Amino acid sequence: MKIELRNFTKRFDGQAVVDNVSLTIESGEMIALLGPSGCGKSTSLFSICGIHRMDEGQLLFGDKDVTNLPSQKRNVGVVFQNYALYPHMSIFENIAFPLVVQKADRATIRRKVADIAELVQISDLLERKPANISGGQQQRTALARALIRRPDVLLLDEPLANLDAKLRLEMRSEIRRIQSETGITAILVTHDQVEAMSICDRIALMQKGKVVQLDKPREMYANPANMFVAEFLGNPP
Ligand code: ADP
Ligand code: MG
Repeated sequence: MKIELRNFTKRFDGQAVVDNVSLTIESGEMIALLGPSGCGKSTSLFSICGIHRMDEGQLLFGDKDVTNLPSQKRNVGVVFQNYALYPHMSIFENIAFPLVVQKADRATIRRKVADIAELVQISDLLERKPANISGGQQQRTALARALIRRPDVLLLDEPLANLDAKLRLEMRSEIRRIQSETGITAILVTHDQVEAMSICDRIALMQKGKVVQLDKPREMYANPANMFVAEFLGNPP
């Protein structure tokens, strides 16, 4: 589904931390919100999922204006860096949880969990507890839980930050594969330019609450809009 931010501003204590951002993410596209720590990436994501209220602007999911909808009424899937799984529940129960909340019937739940577990390749782990699987498998479980209701948009906030270097590389391509196979529009928040360039269709590079450049990775790298972009991407003149 197409996701559209129009003139979005978010303030804390009168200070704009996201400042008049407009951004359209095409259906099925994966876009990176990239930038240094504190530039407003997570605040943007929290506003899209409805944890934060927007102070100004509009948010559209397809043709639907969701600006004033509470988060429970938005169909979003989220994976945060520290988005813990429920430790007392099995992997199956963790993934099924959003459907249980929706009071889906048991046969539907079983079928959907089986399908999504196959997609993220954890079918043989469903009976285990989170403590008994690896970090990469936990992140696959978190992805499965985020995708189980087939969200309008998948929101990923630094999903690889807690993984070691080898797993991070593996999960980088896995996240892209899983997103492509589902065709779900996705926003990946990261401060890692290599990660953004290697995974995403386009990059929105943020600085101090503003999007300073929005482009395909190669074009941004070849034609940075200013010195900040060039230096951030590691390609200064
Ligand atoms: P990023 O994810 O890009 O590192 P954030 O969106 O988390 O940045 O934060 C952007 C700015 O907003 C930072 O200066 C941060 O301190 C501030 N900020 C974030 N959340 C809050 C909050 N709940 N209250 C006050 N200030 C906040
Ligand atoms: Mg952040």
